[in-house]
Amino acid sequence: MPWLLACGPKPRFAFVMEEIARLVRPHLLGLKPYSSARDEFSGTAEVYLDANENSLGGVGSYPRYPDPHQQAIKARLADLKGLSPSQIFLGNGSDEPIDLLIRAFCQPGQEEILILPPTYGMYEVSATINQVALRKVNLLPDFQPDVEAILAASSLTTKILWLCSPNNPSGNLFQAESIERLLRHFPGLVVIDEAYADFSPAPSWLSRLAEFPRLVVLQTFSKAWGLAGLRCGMAFGHPYLIALLDKIKPPYNLSQPAQQLVLQALERESDKKQQVAELIAQREHLAHTLQQTEGVLEVLPSDANFLLVRFRQAGELFAYLMERGVIVRDRQGVVHGHQALRITVGTAAENAQLLHHIAQFYAGH
Ligand SMILES: *Cc1c(COP(=O)(O)O)cnc(C)c1O
Repeated sequence: MPWLLACGPKPRFAFVMEEIARLVRPHLLGLKPYSSARDEFSGTAEVYLDANENSLGGVGSYPRYPDPHQQAIKARLADLKGLSPSQIFLGNGSDEPIDLLIRAFCQPGQEEILILPPTYGMYEVSATINQVALRKVNLLPDFQPDVEAILAASSLTTKILWLCSPNNPSGNLFQAESIERLLRHFPGLVVIDEAYADFSPAPSWLSRLAEFPRLVVLQTFSKAWGLAGLRCGMAFGHPYLIALLDKIKPPYNLSQPAQQLVLQALERESDKKQQVAELIAQREHLAHTLQQTEGVLEVLPSDANFLLVRFRQAGELFAYLMERGVIVRDRQGVVHGHQALRITVGTAAENAQLLHHIAQFYAGH
């Protein structure tokens, strides 16, 4: 098992487990997970009369419960990512591991998470649903983390630090040195959300998992893989932590069709890479053109599949575009988001349409 080799000999593994276990909500340490029919018999048999399914086959194509451990996908992903299946958690979108991490590590009413606004909204929503408090340390005006302020705002009750890199909505990667310092000095879990990593030139933090046992990396099938409608997200971490998430998830959290479609998608990685290259080319073209467009104040550098752009009269432009059927995201209300709209990179034709309407708007203003 690669992670065992990477973690060194056994005593180190025991020490690492201890390091994670001390962060877990104590009542979960002894939890006995639900044992499904598929857990109690996992071989192949002639006759399955153990799960109260419809033996006649029902009215659809999926009469059987799916594999609760998603072993086929994990085996394939482990190959692709150079990991062990025991380091992989699969959820109903990334939103599921975001919620499970908060539920597993933060005591409601007592402990908190730390986020760096402006950032992805689900960290705050999930924390609030779970009655877990938030500490916020704003990103600097260049959208980089303020490492000293983050460490100063952290205490032993600050259980999870959320780093979104490339960051949504600013689009930029965080500097590797900053992330590394946070991994070394933040006392709790550090989650790096790599939803947009496919569009960035930086290597994934997956390669550093063995070095930092309190690191969790999130990735998703929703963006580069083009499967947002399928709902499948990935969390990668130390096997002890992944086993804990598996223990508290709903047993059948990924449906059978979702599992099949993800497996099929994994066979088409080269198609994904080709689309990513095309979207990056479109992004560069769009950024370049916007920079020379009347009314554009600033195009922020992006390592993702969207651009954050500051416009003169951004609010009016937003409404104007919407009236013409072009929907972008108004980010004026977020920290450092003054006059900014977030624009997803579209097809060449969609981007041309967007640029046309922007030019029309400023021609009239
Ligand atoms: C879109 C996005 C996700 C993906 O969420 P899913 O639930 O997997 O669709 C995760 N994190 C960030 C920062 C995102 O922008």
